[in-house]
Amino acid sequence: MLPGLPDVAELQLLFAQYNWMHFRGEIPTYRIAYNARFSNCAGRITYKPPLIELSPKHLAGKAGELRETLLHEMIHAWLHALGKSPGHTATFKKKMQELGLRSIYHDLGRAIPLNESTKRYILRCEKCTMELLRKRKPPANLVCARCRKPLAVFEVVEMRPVELTQAASRTRR
Ligand SMILES: [Zn+2]
Ligand SMILES: [Zn+2]
Repeated sequence: MLPGLPDVAELQLLFAQYNWMHFRGEIPTYRIAYNARFSNCAGRITYKPPLIELSPKHLAGKAGELRETLLHEMIHAWLHALGKSPGHTATFKKKMQELGLRSIYHDLGRAIPLNESTKRYILRCEKCTMELLRKRKPPANLVCARCRKPLAVFEVVEMRPVELTQAASRTRR
């Protein structure tokens, strides 16, 4: 673990705290984890199974960014829990404003998020943490080429690209 980062138990506590403070406790339990393999995204959410992952590399020593990224992913989780479209909709932006989060895309007037419309699947080997991204639902019973372990399938992710969060901080209003 890099210095300047809360440990996973603390993240879980933050999640619970924010859930009650800002979402009336309406977000179901999500596992909050770090994913050291992220190269160009600061945060990611998968709805099935419920998981929010944060990039230690991009968030170490940046408590503010970590909070914003976690809250950002939590808005997705909240909308998803309420049965609303979990994308960057008007409702999403309204909630961002309410929480005092900087707009990440829309102030820039460009930059459509990389995967706003494509459904994706992640195949992950829990043993070696190898990951594959797929546009279509993968067949069941795939195994890791290296470990021969069954791959876990995660459905629909929303990523928060790093370039955009950095661009947003430059154009902060
Ligand atoms: Zn493996
Ligand atoms: Zn997002």
